Amino acid sequence: MKYLIIAALVSIVFVLVYTRVRPYLKLIQKIVQSLNVVTDINTSTAVQPKVPSRNKLVRCEGCGTWIPAERALSLNSGLATYCSPECFNRR
Ligand SMILES: [Zn+2]
Repeated sequence: MKYLIIAALVSIVFVLVYTRVRPYLKLIQKIVQSLNVVTDINTSTAVQPKVPSRNKLVRCEGCGTWIPAERALSLNSGLATYCSPECFNRR
């Protein structure tokens, strides 16, 4: 009978501790998950850097100047690029 009471007490204490600790466990889980997400983002950007196309530099076919792709005049679906209409007319 004594052991039964001890077992009951232990289980009650366990349940109490568990219910007390559970929010913290969930919090820790969330933190770990968010950290994982962050590291996932970091690794994915490190593995394949998705540089926006507008930050890409292209070389003018006319004068050889490197210019941002967004400012370039591109022809033949981007095969030839020119920095200005002058260079385009000079080709
Ligand atoms: Zn040019």
